[in-house]
Amino acid sequence: MIRRPPRSTLSSSSAASDVYKRQVGNASIYLDYNATTPLRAEVKAELLDALGEPNNPSSIHSLGRIARRRLEKSRRQIATLINSPPENIIFTSGGTEANNLALKGGQCTDIIVSSVEHEAVLAAAVNAKKISVDKNGIVILSELENVIADINGDCFVSIMWANNETGVIQPIKEIVEIASKYGARVHSDAVQALGKIPINFRESGLSMMSISAHKIGGPTGIGALVIADDVELKPTLVGGGQEKGRRSGTENILGAIGFGKAAEVVAQNPAENKRVQNLRDLFETKLSRCFPKVNILSQNVPRLGNTSAIVMPGVLAETQVMSFDLEGICLSAGAACSSGKVKRSHVVEAMKIGDEPATNTIRVSLGWDSTELEIDFLVNSWLKIYNRANKKI
Ligand code: PLP
Repeated sequence: MIRRPPRSTLSSSSAASDVYKRQVGNASIYLDYNATTPLRAEVKAELLDALGEPNNPSSIHSLGRIARRRLEKSRRQIATLINSPPENIIFTSGGTEANNLALKGGQCTDIIVSSVEHEAVLAAAVNAKKISVDKNGIVILSELENVIADINGDCFVSIMWANNETGVIQPIKEIVEIASKYGARVHSDAVQALGKIPINFRESGLSMMSISAHKIGGPTGIGALVIADDVELKPTLVGGGQEKGRRSGTENILGAIGFGKAAEVVAQNPAENKRVQNLRDLFETKLSRCFPKVNILSQNVPRLGNTSAIVMPGVLAETQVMSFDLEGICLSAGAACSSGKVKRSHVVEAMKIGDEPATNTIRVSLGWDSTELEIDFLVNSWLKIYNRANKKI
């Protein structure tokens, strides 16, 4: 039997990560980076430096000007990571607000989305036409083209860059090419893609893109909508006219500082993702070796290197999450709602691969602090939970 590794050997790096691991009590193995990430040590240090100061960039006195400089520095740090003009980055309260601003502020009557979008897109565009995905969760491009071609007038496509549950990466280049043929604009929810795969906004051809800080080691409550030069947005929040009138409300300077620093750290550590992907691949190899018929979703299509969506026969996702928690492992069912309940996954359901995957899939999502010891413990726990539920032990 593999024992849970002692905490001192779990963390590869920083003092900050040790702290969060202590704070989560019994749960010392965090494999839920797609839900949110720990604050990076570098981000924490930067935030502590600015904490407590009056930070209103609209004030014209010297402290206001310092706040303004901090805000614009953060915008530049993010712009460097995604290759966009800094002035085209509109800070929001997160990915959810960025998606809402794109879909409601885009002023289009006909909106097209994929059936695997995050709730923040689906709920912001309830009347949208939904494009199906194939059994791997990839948008069916011929269907997209037919639907766009059928629409007379302005239409707006919103398709995520990478999926939060399966990690599947959508063919954004092809989607933009198809949309452009018909003069349609494209928005992409890149909340999960940011920091995990290279993103080049300028070259993407996208009109808009949503991003969020807490998926890359920044704080929660800050995100951004990135727009192309020619996009005219109708603001959803009006008031003091901040963010060039595109999003009113005193800017969240601490959030922006944290977002900027996290973006800088990510941009300076290109090898981080490769290490995480090797670890994820090792996990999948080890699990498949112990349980050859394991069903890992979308394993052979482009996927984020940190994500595994795994079906456990005979055990509901909710039960699995609780069982893993008792083992000291924090992970998620793909689809959790705010009440903490686990729902059937609309993402897996859309892939039409049967009933069990929609109810029995859990998501393992690794990050920069994950280690091989944690992976070994996870494989062992997975087998233990499976065997116990299926009366094999
Ligand atoms: N879009 C995707 C794909 C996500 O995974 C999430 C968060 O889980 C969001 C949007 C919402 O982002 P935020 O939590 O910053 O509002």
